Amino acid sequence: MIVVMQPVAEKEQIEGVENKLLEMGFAPHRIQGVGRVVIGAVGDRKIIFPTGLEVLPGVEKVVPITAPYKLVSRQVKETSSVVEVGDLKVGGSEIVVMAGPCAVENEDQLITIARLVKAAGAQVLRGGAFKPRSSPYSFQGLEQEGLKMLDRARQETGLKVVTEVLNPQEVEIVARYTDIIQIGARNMQNFSLLREVGRTMKPVLLKRGLAATLEEWLMAAEYILAEDNFQVMLCERGIRTFETSTRSTLDISSVPQAKELSHLPVIVDPCHSSGTWRLAEPLSKAAVAAGADGLLIEVHHNPAEALCDGPQSLTPEKFSRLLSAISPIARAVERAVHVGESLSKTGGL
Ligand code: PEP
Ligand code: MN
Repeated sequence: MIVVMQPVAEKEQIEGVENKLLEMGFAPHRIQGVGRVVIGAVGDRKIIFPTGLEVLPGVEKVVPITAPYKLVSRQVKETSSVVEVGDLKVGGSEIVVMAGPCAVENEDQLITIARLVKAAGAQVLRGGAFKPRSSPYSFQGLEQEGLKMLDRARQETGLKVVTEVLNPQEVEIVARYTDIIQIGARNMQNFSLLREVGRTMKPVLLKRGLAATLEEWLMAAEYILAEDNFQVMLCERGIRTFETSTRSTLDISSVPQAKELSHLPVIVDPCHSSGTWRLAEPLSKAAVAAGADGLLIEVHHNPAEALCDGPQSLTPEKFSRLLSAISPIARAVERAVHVGESLSKTGGL
């Protein structure tokens, strides 16, 4: 349930309600809404209405939450959440672009790509240091060395960094080097990992599982919010269907649905969805038109030599053209996208 406080409620009255909720066996989560505080109360106990909370000073009303996910639900927080990654805002009027190689391969590769994606207009550098590969014989990532390279690329370019963590023991080290912690599709229901990542209080990019329903995805996000970390971005990256012409099927309808059911920003990854750079631009256009708050795109300066996901990686010039191509779509839905210099004209790689 949520307890909606009156706009004029005082600090002591809010604390009074929180203490009462704790006494009743609930975990209260304070949410600052527009002009008033709302307290989300999560607990296993069967709630019987009226709860008696209605009569406490400062309380306007008590509303039961019918969705199985609570803190993630728009019933708890009507306004869209803006995740703050330093000075970068995800979920505001600007569409945030995260780009970079699938995997960090070496320092030269990473810095080269980082500079190019930054010039083209990206705000966040992606790059896996711990790679969840389908085969144990494939390149598994540079691990800690890769994290240090990401850190150097951040210092060099000023880009924010997003990178994946694979297991709870590595959360601390990954959190030390990254601005956004990525939970990959294969780990979406690794609940101990979700809890551990929640406790870091760092922004989290939560990818949708390969065969996860919208509800399971939102329940996974609930694990992170339940640790009081509301800095969560959902990432639609395609789901397994009977269709084999693409690597996965981009569930474009999940974008407006996730935004209607929850207050969290939604990012779309057109590269892992399709498995081919050829579809990255049309799918990005569709994502922006459908209301996505950001894009996660694989870019490599030499896709043919990439150690991971070359076929779905864009060259920096193609990436720069993609950003120009989505700009009018963004304007049409009253959003903006930062487009940097045209790499094709300046003879970029
Ligand atoms: C990735 O973004 O590096 C990745 C492995 O993606 P996913 O978890 O969506 O497969
Ligand atoms: Mn990849």
